[in-house]
Amino acid sequence: MLIAGPRPETWIRASSAGLYCEPGDFHIDPQTPVARAVITHGHGDHARPGNEGVLATPDTLAIMRQRYGEAAGGALQPLAYGERVTVGGVALRLLPAGHVLGSAQVVLDYRGGRVVVSGDYKRRPDPTCAPFEPCNADLFITEATFGLPVFRHPPDRQEIDKLLRSLALFPDRCHVVGVYALGKCQRVLALLRRAGYEKPVYLHGALIGLTELYESLGVSLGPVLPLADVSRDALRGRIVLAPPAATTDRWSRRLPDPVVAMASGWMRVRQRAKARGVELPLVISDHADWDELTATIEEVAAAEIWVTHGREEALVHYARQKGYRARALALTGFEEDE
Ligand SMILES: [Zn+2]
Ligand SMILES: [Zn+2]
Repeated sequence: MLIAGPRPETWIRASSAGLYCEPGDFHIDPQTPVARAVITHGHGDHARPGNEGVLATPDTLAIMRQRYGEAAGGALQPLAYGERVTVGGVALRLLPAGHVLGSAQVVLDYRGGRVVVSGDYKRRPDPTCAPFEPCNADLFITEATFGLPVFRHPPDRQEIDKLLRSLALFPDRCHVVGVYALGKCQRVLALLRRAGYEKPVYLHGALIGLTELYESLGVSLGPVLPLADVSRDALRGRIVLAPPAATTDRWSRRLPDPVVAMASGWMRVRQRAKARGVELPLVISDHADWDELTATIEEVAAAEIWVTHGREEALVHYARQKGYRARALALTGFEEDE
């Protein structure tokens, strides 16, 4: 016989610092420094510096050390996917979230009840990280960055082919692709390699550290070169990756007749691409689209769903229609950017 334990909402809640697990006395992705933090992945709005204790996957800890040095945290506790620790009577596991290298869902078991905190996630295959592993739960806390039916990401290959076609069409123009430093940069490199592009790809200085870290953690990304010491003409017909802001600022003047591209789920929105001066929008996202979000809710099959981190309303509405208890969870501090 199953003994009905306390409902999850009595032991996990939103505090001012973020999601807080009372019996375990830890926060998940806290926005301000805390004594004990569980970090889902290395993006800056989830992994903040200055916590005393940090529990995360080994890859996430490596990313945090690279970004923050000493400030990554006082005591860093690595936990591999699937391994279990008990914190204040709460059994805790991390499962792959398929978002970026090291990204994890947090699975909490306490007195017969289970909470799964998704962190950021996506469901489509990504050669640079382990795939999302669905896990049944009583309460599922899901992100909703692209939580509107209008967001349906096309296949990655289709978007990469757009870039390669443009390159063939304009062999004298440099193609600069705006990518976030953690995750997107490495994924675009890996996707280019899968599509058979074997030439060196040139990297803005801000992207080199994490790309080298990925390589050192076993993710092969093919030949990359720092942009710094390349002549302007040598960049004709080449692919350059740079942080999104750099693609249109002063820095980009060194590029010969650039085609400005950007790889982001937001490129689905024409006005955004236009406002950013993007000529070649590539809809490549590290977040679940609407179909992935709704499929995941069905698969996890939790009686209760909390939605956070984006466009909560539509997904809450969807979940209620399907018979789940659902509500928006107001957590602050997360950025809508990928
Ligand atoms: Zn993220
Ligand atoms: Zn996020």
